[in-house]
Amino acid sequence: MSWESNVRRVVPYVPGEQPNVENMIKLNTNENPYPPSKGVQEAMKNLQLSDFKLYPDSEAGSLVHTLAQYYGLKDEQVFVGVGSDDVLAIAFQTFFNSDKPIFFPQITYSFYDVWADLYKIPYEAIPLKADFHIDPEDYKRENGGIIFPNPNAPTGLLESLDMVEKVLRANPDVVVIVDEAYIDFGGKSALALIDTYENLLVVQTFSKSRSMAGMRIGYAMGNPKLIKYLNDVKFSTNSYTMNYPSLLLGVEAVKDDAYFKETTAKIIATRERVKSELAELGFEFPDSMSNFVFARHPKVSGTELYEALRKKNIFVRHFNNPLITEYNRITIGTDDEMDALLACVKEYLEEKGV
Ligand code: PMP
Repeated sequence: MSWESNVRRVVPYVPGEQPNVENMIKLNTNENPYPPSKGVQEAMKNLQLSDFKLYPDSEAGSLVHTLAQYYGLKDEQVFVGVGSDDVLAIAFQTFFNSDKPIFFPQITYSFYDVWADLYKIPYEAIPLKADFHIDPEDYKRENGGIIFPNPNAPTGLLESLDMVEKVLRANPDVVVIVDEAYIDFGGKSALALIDTYENLLVVQTFSKSRSMAGMRIGYAMGNPKLIKYLNDVKFSTNSYTMNYPSLLLGVEAVKDDAYFKETTAKIIATRERVKSELAELGFEFPDSMSNFVFARHPKVSGTELYEALRKKNIFVRHFNNPLITEYNRITIGTDDEMDALLACVKEYLEEKGV
């Protein structure tokens, strides 16, 4: 027997690439094309190097409090982590501990099955309806917990709070996690339901709507009991997950609500324009309420289009999943970036005689 027989082997999640090409147009990882708020930029200048020698606040109190105030919650209802990936990974570890399979959609964020495998959690990937919507009826069987993004990724489709509530009502005995990474681009948050359902955990991030993907800040909101259990696991793994700059800059990002509303509104407006232009070019896509569009063209191979754009230094995301191989997920960038993308796509279609 070799030492390797005792290794925890995992097939890791593959993040979207971060190419560093001059003049590239990067529409592959759903980042925000606009910079963080001025307040964040100012706070950045005022960071004190001398403060780096101390450990940061293990409770992340200032950031937790700022988020709690912003959402009208108590501090005990908020948990923060190193991006929502960290928050979600801790939530999987904390709440999905039965022998029963957890449920999530078959087409969804491809990290869920990776965490399930990592933590040895059985799971069932539940097919979506033909129109890519989640059918709440499928979530009424016995299970060990439920997670889905709303809007879903990579489809971009938003589910109503009515649908979310149907799932919650049928599942009072397990934790239901709603991953709202993209909720600020036109959706209604399930936050409104956390007082009614003590088993509901709502997870959000600074990476998309707050232009802070590089800072790595995510958070969960829910009943104080859920938050306490998350903190128990966090403090059993790493007390100091949030570094000093992210605590300081995170607080600033939340403070400037006007800037947040302005940039999300700009992205929504660009998305709607891009949707109508893509439709005119013959693309088909679910009606995205996120900061990306998941599109296919009935006459063009998804992989070939992805490759053609890549050659022009336009990066979109293509998934090696046979169910969605004809699709590309296109992040909404600035208007100029989207114009360049659309021009390139148009040229490609003309070359193909479409
Ligand atoms: N959930 C979903 C659905 C996502 O698409 C992403 C982005 N990859 C995340 C969570 C994680 O984002 P972050 O860790 O940057 O908060």
